[in-house]
Formats: sequence, C-alpha cells, structure tokens
Amino acid sequence: MDDSEKIRLKRELKKTHFVKGIGVSPGIIIGKAYFLDRGKIEAPARVLPEFHVAQEVERFLAAVEESKKQLRKAKEKLLHEDAAGPSYIIDTHLLLLEDKKLIDSTVETIKQSWINSEWAMKINLDRLRKIFNSIDDEYLRSRKTDVDYVGERILRNLMGQDTESLAQLKEEVIIVAHDISPGDTAQMAKDKIVAFVTDMGGKTSHTAIMARSLEIPAIVGAETSSQVINTGDSLIVDGFTGVVVVNPSPEIMQEYRERQQIRQKMERELFQYRDLPAETLDGFRVKILANIELVEEIPSVLQHGAEGIGLYRTEYLYLNRKDLPSEEDHFEAYKQVVEGIFPHPAVIRTLDIGGDKFASQIVVAEEMNPALGLRAIRLSLKEIDIFKAQLRAMLRASAYGKVKILLPMISGVSEIREVKRILDGVRLGLSAEGIPYDPKIEIGVMIEVPSAVTIADILAKEVDFFSIGTNDLIQYALAIDRVNESVSHLYEPLHPAILRLIRQVVQSAHEAGIRVAMCGEMAGEPLYIPILIGLELDDLSMNVLSIFRIKKILRAYTFRECKELVDASMHLSIPDEIEDLVRTSLREKFPEEFRENFGFKISNDE
Ligand code: PEP
Ligand code: MG
Repeated sequence: MDDSEKIRLKRELKKTHFVKGIGVSPGIIIGKAYFLDRGKIEAPARVLPEFHVAQEVERFLAAVEESKKQLRKAKEKLLHEDAAGPSYIIDTHLLLLEDKKLIDSTVETIKQSWINSEWAMKINLDRLRKIFNSIDDEYLRSRKTDVDYVGERILRNLMGQDTESLAQLKEEVIIVAHDISPGDTAQMAKDKIVAFVTDMGGKTSHTAIMARSLEIPAIVGAETSSQVINTGDSLIVDGFTGVVVVNPSPEIMQEYRERQQIRQKMERELFQYRDLPAETLDGFRVKILANIELVEEIPSVLQHGAEGIGLYRTEYLYLNRKDLPSEEDHFEAYKQVVEGIFPHPAVIRTLDIGGDKFASQIVVAEEMNPALGLRAIRLSLKEIDIFKAQLRAMLRASAYGKVKILLPMISGVSEIREVKRILDGVRLGLSAEGIPYDPKIEIGVMIEVPSAVTIADILAKEVDFFSIGTNDLIQYALAIDRVNESVSHLYEPLHPAILRLIRQVVQSAHEAGIRVAMCGEMAGEPLYIPILIGLELDDLSMNVLSIFRIKKILRAYTFRECKELVDASMHLSIPDEIEDLVRTSLREKFPEEFRENFGFKISNDE
C-alpha cells in the first residue's frame, strides 16, 4: 500500500465504527478525541483534521529546533573537552537539519496531506534515502547513515515524553493513547480530560485503578484504538461495557444519551444503600472498606459510607514529582487520611513501587521481569532510609486516629521479622524524641504471592491481620500478566485454583483468630460477592464506586445460600462453570438489573 492509499484509508475511517476494549471505570461520556503520543516507539501514522495542521507544522519545527539545540550542545561539549572527536560529523548533522529536501519538504507534506509530522518525515526520509542510494560514490552513499541519525533525533524529539503536556489543553477532551502511566492518569483530574481510551492494559492495571479513583470513565486494552481514532473524532466512551463508538451517527448518539440518563437514575437509586449495614438476610456481617490512592478521595469515601480505609496505596505520593517525598510529606498525607476517616481505621500500606507502578526518584536497574523483581517490600528492605521515613510517618499519624500498617508482597516470614526489627528501631527513636504514637499499632500483610498462601498458617502467627491482594495473587498463581491485554481473557478470578487459595487463607487466618480482608479488585466486583461471602471474608475493601452495588448484592443473599454456592463451586473444574453458577443465581435475585448493572466483571470479555 503506498502512502496516498494509506491516507485515503484513514480518511474513510471517519465513518461510524466501533472499537472494543475493557471497561475499567464506569460512566458514559460523549466528546472529542485527542490523541496523546505516549509510550510508543514506532512512529504513528495519522490523518489530521484541517484545523490541526498549522499546530502540527509548529510541532515539527519545534522538534527540529530542539534537535539543533541538542546537537550544538553536544558539539560545544566536544570542543570544550578538546576531544579530537569528530565534531565535523555534528556539523554535517546540523546542515541536514537546515536541508530543504528534508525539512521544507516535510512541512509541505504535512500541509498538503494533513498528516502527522512523524509520518510526513518518514515519507521524506525515504525519498532522501533513495537519492543517497543512487549515488555512485561509496563515501557519499554511506552518508545515508547521517540522514537516519538526524531523522531519528527529530523523531525522538517529536515523540519524547515531554513534548506534549496535557496541561495545555484548552477544551475538554477524551484522551486516546497507546498506553498511559498511572502518573499520567493522576494528572488528568487537574486537566481537561473527561475520559480515556488506551490500546494497552487490563482491569487491574494501576492505570485502571487510578481512573476509578478519580472517577474518570476509561477503557483499556482496546488494542487498535490509537491507530483508528484521530484527534477531533467524535467519540462515545462507554466505561461500563468497554465500547467506544467513533464518529457516531445521530441515531446512535441519541441511544447513548438515553442510556446515560438511565445510568444516572440507577446511580441515584443506589444511594439508599449508603447507611444500610453490609449484612446478609440472615445477619452475616462484613465490613465494607474503601481503597484509596489519594488523600483527595476522603470526602468521597465518607459520602459512600465506607467503614474505614482498607487499603491506602501510598506509592501515589511518589508520582508526578521529581524529588522524593520527605517524612513530613508522608506524615501530612497520612494525618489527613487518619483524621478524615476517624473513628474508623485506616490501613496504610508501605511503598509498593515496581511492577507497573514506577517512581523515577528511586533508581532501579531495568529488569527483565519487573513484576518478579525489586518491588514492594523487597525495595523497602533495600532502601532502608526511605522505608524508615515512611514507618516514622505512619507511627506519628497513629497518634491522630487509628492506623494499621500493611506490608505488600510478603513471600516469607523473614521479611516480616526484618520489618519488625526496623519498626522497633523507629519506635525507639520516636520514644526518645518524645513523639507520640500508638504503641499497639496493628501490622498486617498482603497475601498476594502464592508462597504466602501456602504458609498462611505460619504467617498468621506473626501478624494481626491479612489482606488478600487478588490482583497480584491471580497474576502470580495463574502466570497471567495483569497489565497484558492479550492474556486478559485468562485472568480468571473464579479459577478453582484461586478459590482454593482464598479458602486456605481464610481458614488459616480464622484458626489463628485474626481477621482477613480482601482488597484486590475482585472484592468490588458484583459477580464475585456471593462467593466471597460464602468463603467467609471478614472485610471487603474496594473502590468507592462499587460500594453501593456490593451492599445491594450481599443484602439480597443469606449466608447459607452463599455457602451453598461455594460448596457447589468446589465440585466444578473450570472457571466458566463456576461463573455460570453464580450468574444464574444473580439473575434469579436481580432479573431486572442483572445485565445493565451487574453484567461486567474483571476479565470483561462479554
Ligand atoms: C493487589 O495486588 O490485589 C493489590 C490490592 O495491590 P496492588 O493492586 O496495588 O498491587
Ligand atoms: Mg498487589
């Protein structure tokens, strides 16, 4: 296919079409697409709306200027160091950056074909390469590498992380990107982003978790979205079903406007569950707690009637800043959370950086398997000073309410002992300084590594509570990368292996007389609630948006019914059979709402 054919094809995509992904944060949003270049190495090819062309030329010329600046700096450095280095090569590159054949003709291509800079530059680079190839002189022919070098430098500047800042957006948009980080998502709340769609990701990726926290409707894992959606396209984003309608017809637009209203009405009706106890028809009581990522979520937690914070992911204190948060930064955030939720407790988790959450302030060598690498407690036990500052802040905050400390990614007893030793030192220090803290502060562990399940009986003797992190437990037990959309259909919370693991953890905890919570995304999914009640979890900690729905479900069941479902599930061998069983039961209980309200689940392949 030649370039003009590609351009024609892209234009045809203006017709109404649908893109399917995974709905990870609920809500229906109608708006305009804005393509954000993030995390993609390959140069994207896209057609632009006419109004975007002048801006695109500017973007291209800015990248050329930036490239010149970088080269001049490199040359200066060479001269300064008096290196005999080939500064003339830099001159050649600088000359190429002035070259009409490359720069002016790329600008012309952008203007004439209304395409993005990367694509226009590729067309012109190819042309230039052909000219070089046809030169007889071998030396001159070999200069083709300079063309490649310069082309790559401009590309890097065009696609670099800092080239596009969401803060510059003037109107509300729906972001479409190959991938975005949890940090980008956190930033979105402050900018004019009303929803986002990405090619990559799964329901338990931290980008998805962040979207739910900020209540930004989102679809991830929509594999081709960044290729088929262009800036300026009209979009409907249905965060419930994972469907994106691109350039919808007036009829489809009308249908979604109506759906939007029905959804809003449903949400209003669910509000009655706010002050009702989370208990089954026969009085089995569980605690519904909230997962939070940011201090700003506390008002929403209170509005949704949560009985405490079951998981405060403190790693978000590290995102979107250049320096490390100080002990004071930690303390201020924790104090706000602890006071805000009082008299209920706040479970604050120590740093869980690594995997798909990355903090640039802590330099970690690039890892082949980051999910299996220096993550969470492993990193804390390596960077002891950072860890101590966090523990001090947690202890100090415990004087202002009820704090429980939660340790992530525990795989064996020695990690707990090591933490206790460090914590004792921190306590001694605070006492010596006369700083108050709760001397009986509870310590719990995340159960999210299969080895922790296997030795749950041993771990239970060491700690005050458990919290099951199904996002990771499923990832590690089933060997399914939680952020890889191509295996998301295999991410099965109802896998018999997972149910057995959960049952084992609950039994070990209860035998040792400690409470067991679940704080992975599984705890906030309507479909899994009857099973989780039957498995006798004590606390369910979830995103606030799930709380009313979950209460509604558990209040419609007896504990006995839930137990029977679990017993029946334990005799089934494949996840689909278990899912059918639960779906049938939910459909009987809620014939009306079943599809619309409860029809979505973690692996979300409906
Ligand atoms: C989990 O793994 O289930 C969990 C709650 O922790 P995170 O999602 O932050 O890894
Ligand atoms: Mg985890």
